[in-house]
Amino acid sequence: MPGFAFDNSYARLPERFHARLPPTPVAAPRLLRLNAALAGTLGLDPEFLASPEGVAILAGNAVPEGAASLAMAYAGHQFGQFVPQLGDGRALLLGEVVGRDGQRRDIQLKGSGPTPFSRQGDGRAALGPVLREYILAEAMAALGIPTTRALAALSTGEAVRRERALPGAVLVRVASSHIRVGTFQYFAARQDIEGLRLLADHAIARHDPHLAGGPAPYRGLLEAVIARQAELVARWLQVGFIHGVMNTDNMALSGETIDYGPCAFLDAYDPATVFSSIDHYGRYAYGNQPPIAQWNLARLAECLLPLLAEDEEEALAQARAALGGFWPRFEAAWLAGMRRKIGLSGPQEEADAALIQDLLDRMARNKVDFTLFFRALGGAAADTAGDAAVAALFEDPAAYGEWAMSWRRRLEREGGLPEDRRAAMDAVNPAYIPRNHQVEAALSAAVERQDLGPFEALMDVLARPFEERPGLESYTLPPQPQERVLQTFCGT
Ligand code: AMP
Ligand code: MG
Ligand code: MG
Repeated sequence: MPGFAFDNSYARLPERFHARLPPTPVAAPRLLRLNAALAGTLGLDPEFLASPEGVAILAGNAVPEGAASLAMAYAGHQFGQFVPQLGDGRALLLGEVVGRDGQRRDIQLKGSGPTPFSRQGDGRAALGPVLREYILAEAMAALGIPTTRALAALSTGEAVRRERALPGAVLVRVASSHIRVGTFQYFAARQDIEGLRLLADHAIARHDPHLAGGPAPYRGLLEAVIARQAELVARWLQVGFIHGVMNTDNMALSGETIDYGPCAFLDAYDPATVFSSIDHYGRYAYGNQPPIAQWNLARLAECLLPLLAEDEEEALAQARAALGGFWPRFEAAWLAGMRRKIGLSGPQEEADAALIQDLLDRMARNKVDFTLFFRALGGAAADTAGDAAVAALFEDPAAYGEWAMSWRRRLEREGGLPEDRRAAMDAVNPAYIPRNHQVEAALSAAVERQDLGPFEALMDVLARPFEERPGLESYTLPPQPQERVLQTFCGT
C-alpha cells in the first residue's frame, strides 16, 4: 500500500516537548483540493491521497502506519505580551517525511480537534480561513517566497461555532519544521536549559546541519535565523505582503512564512497599512515588519543566552553582535530586491537607495497601486511610450514624470537592451497577487454558496504570477471602492 514513509524526529524528543494524541474524527470528510505537485515532491502518491483511505488520513479519521501524532508545546509574545503556554491548540503534527529532494518536512493537520493546549478553543477550523491559508501559502510559494505549504484542504461535514455556525474544514500543512521562536520561549520560561539545548540541537539538525559539531553551533543558529528572517521580511515588503500577526509564536526558525491569519497584500502603497481587525495600534503594519522581526529575534537571542557562553557578559556580547547583523542584512536584501524591481542589475551606486526611497515616498503620497506600478514600470523601461500608463497610476502624474527623469539617467549608466531589462523586471514584479477583494470573493462563494469555482480559478491565476495571460485582466485590478476589504480577521 502506498503510504507515508514517516521518520518522526520531533516525536523522539522528550515527553515535555509535546502531548501525544490522535486527531479527533470528523463526520463526513470530503477532499476539496489536493496539491498533487507537492505530494509528488514529498514522495506521496496523489492517487492514494485522493482515495477514501487517503482522505480519511488527511481528515484525521484514520492514523496512518508510522505516524506519531502530537501537539507541539510552545509559548509566545502576542502583541508584545508574553504567554508562557500556547501550543498547538487545533493542530497536530502527524509526522515527518523525507521528500524526493532529500528535504525533511512536517505534515500537520490544522483543525484536527482539541488538544491539551486548546484552552477555550474548540480545536477546529472554519472553511474560509482554511481556504485563505491555502490560497496565500501557495501564492507565496509561486512568488518564490519561503513559506509553509498547503497539501490539502478538506471539509469536515461538521459546523464550527464562531459568531455564527460555519462549515468546518481541515488544512493539511507542510513545513520544513514547526519550530517557532515561541518554542524556545517555552523552555526558557521554565528555565529548562537541557530542553533548550535539545531543541537547539534539533533545530540545527533540521535547518543548519553544517553547524553541528562546529565551534559555536548555537551562535551559528542564532545568526542563521536572523539572516533568514531579515531576508524573508525584505521579500515580504517587495511584494506588498503584510503578515498581520507577527507574534513570536508565528515566527519560524526555518525562515518560512507561517500562520496565515489576517495577512493581506496591500493595494495602494502606504507603509502604515494595517488590515487585521485586532491590530489596533498598527504594531504589525506593513512598514513596521522589519523592526518587529528584529524585536522577535531579540526574544530568541534571550532564550539562547544560557547556551551561548558560560559567562553571562560573554553570552550577552555574542547575542548583541548577532542581533547587530539584522539591519545590515535586511537593508542589503531589501535594496538588492528593490533595485531589481526598478530594472537595476549592474553595479550598485551610492544614490540607488535614495532613488528608491524617493519613488516610494511619491507612491505613498499619490496612493499608487504597488503591484500595478512595478509591473507597468517594466513597460516604461522598454519604451518611453509606457510612461503614460505608469503616470496614470499617480494622483498627480507629474510626481512620476519627475522621478522618471532621474530613473532614466540611472538606467543609461546601466547599459543593456531595453527588452532584456523589461524581461528581468517582469520576472520579479508579479502581475498577479492574491488581492484581498478577490480572496474574499472566492471564500464567500465557497462558504455561502458551496461554489469552489472562484477559488479554483484564483488558484490557477496565482500559480504563475509573473506570466501575464489573456483573459485575466480582472485579476490584475485593484478593488473598486465598493469591493475594498478594510479589515481581515484572525484565522479561526
Ligand atoms: P494563532 O492566532 O493561530 O497563531 O493561534 C494562537 C494560539 O491559539 C495557538 O496556541 C493556537 O493553537 C490557539 N488557537 C487558535 N484557534 C484555536 C481553536 N479554534 N481551538 C483551539 N486553539 C486555538
Ligand atoms: Mg508529552
Ligand atoms: Mg500561530
